[in-house]
Amino acid sequence: MTTDRDRQTAWKLDTRAVHAGERLPTGGPISTSTPIYQSATFLYETAEELDAVFGGEMPGYSYSRTGNPTVRAVEAAIAGLEGARSCVACSSGMAALHTALLAAGLGAGDRLIAARDLYAATYTLLNNVLRPQGVKVTYVDLCQPGALEEALTAGDVRAILVEAISNPLLRVADLPAIAAAAHAHGATLIVDATFTPPPLGTPLAHGADLVVHSATKYLGGHADITAGVVYGNGEAAATLAQLVPTLGAVLAPHEAWLLLRGLKTLPLRLRRQCASARLLAGRLATHPRVARVHYPGLACHPQHTLAHRLLRRGWYGGMISFELREAGQAEVFRFLNGLALCLPTTSLGDIYTLVSCPALASHRELSPRQCQAMGITPNLIRLSVGIEHPADLAADLLGALDLLDEPAVYVPALPHSTASAEETEADPVEEPAP
Ligand SMILES: *Cc1c(COP(=O)(O)O)cnc(C)c1O
Repeated sequence: MTTDRDRQTAWKLDTRAVHAGERLPTGGPISTSTPIYQSATFLYETAEELDAVFGGEMPGYSYSRTGNPTVRAVEAAIAGLEGARSCVACSSGMAALHTALLAAGLGAGDRLIAARDLYAATYTLLNNVLRPQGVKVTYVDLCQPGALEEALTAGDVRAILVEAISNPLLRVADLPAIAAAAHAHGATLIVDATFTPPPLGTPLAHGADLVVHSATKYLGGHADITAGVVYGNGEAAATLAQLVPTLGAVLAPHEAWLLLRGLKTLPLRLRRQCASARLLAGRLATHPRVARVHYPGLACHPQHTLAHRLLRRGWYGGMISFELREAGQAEVFRFLNGLALCLPTTSLGDIYTLVSCPALASHRELSPRQCQAMGITPNLIRLSVGIEHPADLAADLLGALDLLDEPAVYVPALPHSTASAEETEADPVEEPAP
């Protein structure tokens, strides 16, 4: 017999993104789109039914911290994207990371090997929360051959944490090799896949045990929620559903609904973002005021071949970092102030194109020395490509770069003209191969 689940697994990811998680049985009328169950508690006709739900003999919901239909829908939808058996939605990416570290069983005396290139708040979590609890944290440059093997010889390794593509320098992790090394030592591999949402990356297929996303970024995609998810297929993932209600790190119903809505266009948004990023990376690389571009799609990127092998064919993500030539903070500010379309703000993965200076934003928690050691220079700009027309984005970015060579007088940024001819103009971006 073909079940609904079998049928859904056979669909392509673009179709699953639209339909997975929707119209789960409720026993009542079926709404096409899952409503927001904005309720802390749930009622039953009889005390016997409520008792059976509490006892787990009857499926149902009693209290939103332990389960909510809208949250359940988005968990089912995200599980459906990569074919995960277990998935939990959390109140933020950081809550999701904390949940994953606990699900890996990390406790006093255990060692965590963490990639040296991490989101700054992740360092703070490891150094200020895990370490005081007795977890030994070893940072390793996972792009350095042999470094992981050497760290693993230290013993007691319970888990390895890595970002699939690192923030902000876009280093690509060799997930199959890291997973093989982790499993040979009985360790759990946790992958922060925020920069490689499905269908760009497939960390489960590459051996990850637990996959974490800041859903605030690509999965939500509209700069309107803070959310996180963790999913996986193994033993560690099976503990997630118990852990999140106990920690209280649950996602709220309205946020879950916005996330569910955002997911439907994830493959479409990503297709555009990846194609535009490829075009913009090429344009930036040839501009005289750009000293260096970090983008896995460029042949000069140190892990270009690996990125080509691990990421969806022809897609290299929607993130670019680049260094301004001969620039200090004044020039960085001048560049940011010269932008009229790209929004100078932190975060990433949105429909809007966002530009930030990691040393002053996402990595401000680190000291200037730590930043320098990681290669996060004060002239580094991080660009999260949105879904606007790439020609407008190129004009805005190159225009702001050109301003750096003009005499230092105040030039108010002009708003973009909305020429109607533009609207019928063909999309110059070559679509990547499916
Ligand atoms: C933003 C981010 C996080 C944290 O997510 P929040 O939703 O802000 O809590 C974790 N990892 C990476 C790579 C991120 O970019």
